[in-house]
Amino acid sequence: MYKNKICVIGTGYVGLVGGVCLADFGNRIMNVDIDEKKIKMLQDENIPIYEPGLQVLFERNVREKRIKFTTDIARAIKECEVIYISVGTPSSQNGESNLESVFQVAKNIGQIIDGYRIIVTKSTVPVGTGRKVEAIINEEINKRNKDYKIDIVSNPEFLREGKAVYDFTHPDRIVIGTDSENARKVMEEVYRPLYLNNTPFVFTNLETAEMIKYAANAFLATKISFINEMANLCEAVDADVQTVARSMGMDGRISSKFLHAGPGYGGSCFPKDTRAIVKIGEASGVDMKVIKAAIIANENQKIRMVDKIRDRLGGLRGKTISILGLTFKPETDDVREAPALSIIPRLIKSGARIRAYDPQGMKTASRILNEYEQEITYCKNEYEAVKKADALVLITEWNQFRRLDLDRVRSLLAYPVFFDLRNVYIPEEVEAVGIEYIGVGVKGKKISAEIETGKREIAATEQGVKDN
Ligand code: NAD
Repeated sequence: MYKNKICVIGTGYVGLVGGVCLADFGNRIMNVDIDEKKIKMLQDENIPIYEPGLQVLFERNVREKRIKFTTDIARAIKECEVIYISVGTPSSQNGESNLESVFQVAKNIGQIIDGYRIIVTKSTVPVGTGRKVEAIINEEINKRNKDYKIDIVSNPEFLREGKAVYDFTHPDRIVIGTDSENARKVMEEVYRPLYLNNTPFVFTNLETAEMIKYAANAFLATKISFINEMANLCEAVDADVQTVARSMGMDGRISSKFLHAGPGYGGSCFPKDTRAIVKIGEASGVDMKVIKAAIIANENQKIRMVDKIRDRLGGLRGKTISILGLTFKPETDDVREAPALSIIPRLIKSGARIRAYDPQGMKTASRILNEYEQEITYCKNEYEAVKKADALVLITEWNQFRRLDLDRVRSLLAYPVFFDLRNVYIPEEVEAVGIEYIGVGVKGKKISAEIETGKREIAATEQGVKDN
């Protein structure tokens, strides 16, 4: 019988948010991780990641003793009937999903369980992984000459970092893939507040549930690549992608979401999940042409951003570039596959120096960019980052970058050109203070300004960014 005790193995962005929110639903949670430092921090009531809204829920559930943190996986598996697997599934060298951690946890479960358990895969895993997890656990049980029954569930996660708490507690749908009637009933209990709230539940088999996650991510990534390609075409033909996207989005069949032109998608999911589904296709003899094209377009988009900057500045050697935003999106400290982390090394390799600022991502980014520490100055705020720079490049649209004091920016820049890679600003507003505006797929005017003297000699042409 389900006694509302759940262990969540893997306490990262998904496992921690999931654990805390499941505790808030009234379940008793043991969050497990192999990272001792992370668990120690959590036991000391410090949250190791930046995720808005998590603190309040975390404190409440720790106080109510509904959630505990441990590295003792054996104890957690013994005590809990429902076991979530939410470890990382990063890309392997060849693009396949690396399932080492998932299989390691499956082995642990098989070696430790002493009775019926429900194993729930929350990590994003290729189709067929649930069955492999089941086989590994059963093999370990057999080795011990025991005969415990297990049920496997695929329960993919759709939360967005930066809005993870809201998304987990207000999901568009909960997908439950399982063959077991009992597991299905238990999962309804686990998500009882949502079930009672009429959140749509999709009950299906394991394979379909696993596929739903990849299909959703690949579709969204493709939508981004699509609008980025449209933006590039808009630049070439003097059209405005913002208006194109807005008008497209008014069509209910299309929707306005994920139609924002920019420097390419990044993050811990889209890049690895698109690569993985291409590999799943290869293994099954299906050529995933559309998704492959989306991946190539995304890579090209990041390179295109660097070319844009280089072309406008007439080369990058000796130039100082101010970068605002290092994380892959606002309201997170996650920099995994962030566009900034691909753009910055390319700028440096072409001879530029960087002045960077991000509200939450400087620590995580500096670890990954450590080989460039001589070339990057991490600044204490956005205005410090702009000081004496030859160009300002906005890569991540944190709220505080949406309303810069443009006069101050103009006075701090050595050369007044602003690459707004998220199309946050209205070109005319930027140009009104004497800064040349270059967006992605939007029309800006060319303004050439006297450097150093501060004299604003504006020679505007109507030719747009491609004319530089
Ligand atoms: P993460 O890297 O933040 O966390 C993974 C955690 O698992 C780490 O703390 C790691 O120490 C731990 N771990 C690894 N091996 C372990 C083991 N053997 N035993 C116990 N703990 C172990 O990853 P994440 O971003 O939370 O992603 C987890 C999964 O969820 C991935 O499959 C990802 O694709 C999927 N997902 C992520 C998001 C997101 O926005 N981050 C959204 C939806 C789905």
